[in-house]
Amino acid sequence: MTVTDESLVTAVTRRFSSAFGAAPAGVWSAPGRVNLIGEHTDYNEGFVLPFAIGARTAVAAARRDDGVLRVSSAQYPDEIVTVPLSGAVPGAVSGWAAYPVGVAWALGVRARGQGNGLPGPDQRSGISLCIDSRVPEGAGLSSSAALECAVASALNDLWGTGAGRTELARACQRAENEAVGAPTGIMDQYASLFGEDGGAVFLDCRTVTGESVPLDLAGAGLTILLADTGERHVNSDGGYASRRASCERAARALGVPALRDATLAGLDRAGTALDDETLRRARHIITENERVTETVRALRAGALAGDPGEVGRLLTASHASMRDDFEITTPALDLAAATAIGAGAFGARMTGGGFGGSVLVLVDSRRSETVGDAITGAFAKAGLTVPTLRSVTPSRGARRDAGMS
Ligand code: ADP
Ligand code: MG
Repeated sequence: MTVTDESLVTAVTRRFSSAFGAAPAGVWSAPGRVNLIGEHTDYNEGFVLPFAIGARTAVAAARRDDGVLRVSSAQYPDEIVTVPLSGAVPGAVSGWAAYPVGVAWALGVRARGQGNGLPGPDQRSGISLCIDSRVPEGAGLSSSAALECAVASALNDLWGTGAGRTELARACQRAENEAVGAPTGIMDQYASLFGEDGGAVFLDCRTVTGESVPLDLAGAGLTILLADTGERHVNSDGGYASRRASCERAARALGVPALRDATLAGLDRAGTALDDETLRRARHIITENERVTETVRALRAGALAGDPGEVGRLLTASHASMRDDFEITTPALDLAAATAIGAGAFGARMTGGGFGGSVLVLVDSRRSETVGDAITGAFAKAGLTVPTLRSVTPSRGARRDAGMS
C-alpha cells in the first residue's frame, strides 16, 4: 500500500473540524510495524529487521495561539486532554495522552536546546491535535510508535523544529521511556519513520543507523501472515527484566561491552563462568544477531524470489532459539509456528517481546489460506481461542498526507 488510507485522512480531518471548530493545518500519519527477525537483540546493541506495515495512525493538527496543547483521539472519544505547553512534562498526564504530550515535551527539549523540558514560547505555539488510527492497540504492531511518530511529524512541521528522522525517532523513544515509562528500545519508532514500500529496515541498534533491504513480497508471490494468539504480556512483568539482566550478566562474564560483541567461540571459552541458563540466554542473542545479518544477506541476494525457503529456515531457527534458549515463547505460540510449517509455510516465528503476542508466517500466497485454516483448526482442536489472522506488507514510513504545502 503506497498511500495512506484516504478514509482515515478524511475521518481525522472531519473529527478535527468538529472538535476544534476549524479545519486542521495538515494531516500527518505513521505506520505500525512488525519485526521480521531479531528479537531481544536491540538492548544488546545488536541488529533488528523490522518493516512498517500498511495500518497507520493519522493526526490532524493546527497551531493555536493560547500556548495550550489540546489532544483528542477517536479511540478514546470521551476525553479531550488539555495541558499548557509549559506544563507538558513527564508525569503531567497519564494514560493514552502521555504519548502525544510526551512527544511534545521530548521534541521541545530539543527546540529549546536544554534538558529541562520547558518549552520556549517564542519558538513554539500551542497545538490542537486530533488522532485516529487503524493500528490495533496491544497487538504487537506498535500502535504506540505509530502514534508517537505521527505526532512528532506533525509538531516538527508546525513548529519548524527541523529535526531529521533519526532525531524524531530518538525524541519518540524518549517520550515512551520517560513520559510513558515504558523501557523500550528505538526499533519501533525507527521502523515507523524509515519504513518503505517493498523494503525492510535493517537497523544497527548500537549506532542507530539503518539501511533499506528489499522485501518485495508481492513480486515474489509471497505473503506474511500474522497470527495473533490474543495472549498479552506487559513489559513490567518479570520476564523481560530478567532476560535483560541475564544478558548484562553474560556480557560482564564474557568481558564485552554488550552481547553484540560476543561470539560462540567466546561462549565456549567462558566454560563454567556462565551457568547453563545464562549461557543459553547469551547464545540466543549471539545466534539471533547472526540470523539477522544472514537474512539481510539472503534478501539482498534475491532469495525471496529465488529460494524463499532460505529466509523461512532462518525465521524458524529464530523461533527454536526463542523457545529453547531464550525461553520466551508460550505453548500457543509454539503451536501456531509448528502448525504453519506443518501446513507448508516456508518459515514461522514468534515476533515481538514474547510471552504472548503473534506468530509471523512466511508463506506462498497460494497457500496462505490453507495455512491460516490449519492454524485456526489446530487452536480450535486444542481448545484455545482461535488467533486473529492478518497479512502485512512493507509500507511507507511517516509522512504528511495533506496540508502545509
Ligand atoms: P502496542 O504499541 O504494542 O500497540 P503499547 O502498550 O505499547 O502497545 O501501546 C498502546 C497504547 O498506546 C494504548 O494503550 C494507548 O495508550 C496508546 N495509543 C495507541 N494508539 C492510540 C490512539 N489511536 N489513540 C490514543 N492512544 C493510543
Ligand atoms: Mg508499543
